[in-house]
Amino acid sequence: MEKGLHVKKNDQVTVVAGKDKGKTGKVLRIDRKDHRVIVEKVNVIKRHVRPSQKSKGGIIERENFIDVSNVMHFCEKCSKPVRVGTRTLEDGKKVRFCKKCQEVLDK
Ligand SMILES: [Zn+2]
Repeated sequence: MEKGLHVKKNDQVTVVAGKDKGKTGKVLRIDRKDHRVIVEKVNVIKRHVRPSQKSKGGIIERENFIDVSNVMHFCEKCSKPVRVGTRTLEDGKKVRFCKKCQEVLDK
């Protein structure tokens, strides 16, 4: 995991700020440079697309980036957003865990 980013692709996260506050979804994309993420069904923007040879046009809905600081890990066991810590296992592997219930999030 890269420094400064607490989420990985396919993590379950909850939005804790902004217009989509409270929504939970899967991380689809990560922009490491700008510390932004795309979360499934979060910050959806509608774009009107003109008909072209490739498509017949219409309205396309697409997720847009949100700042990584606006999301928190969603712990299934706690069923709410939680803080995450990291610990090193005996075999040297680093895993993330829920600070509330201690459940390991990296399987
Ligand atoms: Zn938990």
